[in-house]
Amino acid sequence: MTTPPAKQREIHLAARPIGTPKPSDFRVATTPVPEPADGQFLVRNIYMSVDPYMRGRMRDVKSYVPPFQIGAVLDGGSAGQVVASRHPKFAEGDFVVGGQGFREYYVSDGAGQRKVDPKVAPLSAFLGILGGPGLTAYVGLIDLGKPKAGETLLVSAAAGAVGMVVGQIGKILGLRVVGSAGGPDKTRWLKEELGFDDAFDYRAAGGALDRAIAERCPDGVDIYFENVGGAMLEAALANMRPFGRIPLCGMIALYNDEQPQPGPRNLIFCIPRRLTLTGFIISDHFDRFPAFTRDVAGWLADGKLKNRETIVQGIENAPAAFIGLLGGENVGKMLVQIGPDPTR
Ligand code: NDP
Repeated sequence: MTTPPAKQREIHLAARPIGTPKPSDFRVATTPVPEPADGQFLVRNIYMSVDPYMRGRMRDVKSYVPPFQIGAVLDGGSAGQVVASRHPKFAEGDFVVGGQGFREYYVSDGAGQRKVDPKVAPLSAFLGILGGPGLTAYVGLIDLGKPKAGETLLVSAAAGAVGMVVGQIGKILGLRVVGSAGGPDKTRWLKEELGFDDAFDYRAAGGALDRAIAERCPDGVDIYFENVGGAMLEAALANMRPFGRIPLCGMIALYNDEQPQPGPRNLIFCIPRRLTLTGFIISDHFDRFPAFTRDVAGWLADGKLKNRETIVQGIENAPAAFIGLLGGENVGKMLVQIGPDPTR
C-alpha cells in the first residue's frame, strides 16, 4: 500500500445556499492528512455519496441531523480503504463505509464504520443499492407500503437511487409498477431495462400530473412511494384507492424553497379513502440491514435487480455533482470517485 501524502483536499461549505445551490457556496480546502493514534485507523476515501438530504443540512435549522457548519467539511457518506491501522479490528486493506465523505483521507476509531466485502459487490454499490438508498427503498416499500401481489405501486423520482430499487422490488413482489421521472431517456430506461409496467415524464405532463397518473393507473394507486412532494403528492392523492398507503420518504421538489409551499390542497381525501401516510427516516431502521442485505444481494446475484450509478470523477467536481443531483443529472445513484478503486 502506498504511503499517504502529507496534504489532502476536502470540500467545505463556504456559504449557506439561498434557493438552488451555486458553485460559490462550496470551497475546495487543503488540510494535513491526519495520523492514526493508538486505537485508530486511516482511510483513503474512494467514493463519496451525493445525497438530497445534504441540502437540508446546509440550512442552519435543527433537524434529525445537525447542520453543516460554514468553513467545515461536508461529512456525507463515504466508502474507502484502510491504508494504515493501529486498531485491533480494522486491518490495512479492509474496505469500509462511513460518514466521513467530501475529503480524501480521515482517521476513525471505528464508530459508525461498516466493513464491507467487495466479493459481494463492487465498493460503490455499498453507498447505493446495498447501502442507505437501497435500505430506504426496502423498508419504505415492504415495511411501510405493506404491498400485496397484484396491487398498483406509483413511485416518483423513479430513476434515482431509491426510486429505481423501489420499482424493481415492486416487480419482484408482483406489483403493477408505474414510475415518474424527468425526461424521455429516464422513462424509457425504466420501462425497457428495469421492467416497469409504465412510466411518465413529469416535466412533459406539466400541470396535468393527475391525468398522467389516472391514464396509467385506471383502477387507482394502492401504494404511492413519495420522493418528490408538491404537485406530485397532490396528483397522487387524487388517484389513491381506499386503504392506500403513502410512505413519505422525501420531498425533493421543496428542498430549495425559501418559503414552505401551501398544500397539498386535497389532503382531505385521506379521510374518506382511509389513507395511511407514514414519514420515516432510514437511520431508525438499521435493524433491517441483515434481512435487506440477504434479500437485495440475493436478487442482485440472481439478476432480478439491476444497478446503475452516475459517477462524477474528481473531488473538485463534488459541488457540481451535488448541484447536478438536485437538477436530475443522475440516473441511479449519484457518486463522486476521488481515487482508484481496487474492487473494479
Ligand atoms: P435520487 O437519486 O432520486 O436523486 C434525486 C432526483 O430527484 C433527481 O435525479 C431528479 O430526478 C429528482 N428531482 C429533483 N428535483 C425534482 C423536482 N422538482 N421534481 C421531481 N423530481 C425532482 O436521490 P435519492 O434516491 O438519494 O433520494 C430520493 C428521495 O428519497 C429524496 O427525496 C430524498 O430526500 C429521499 N430520501 C429519504 C431518506 C429517508 O430516510 N427518509 C433516505 C434517502 C433518501 P428527475 O430527473 O426525475 O427529476
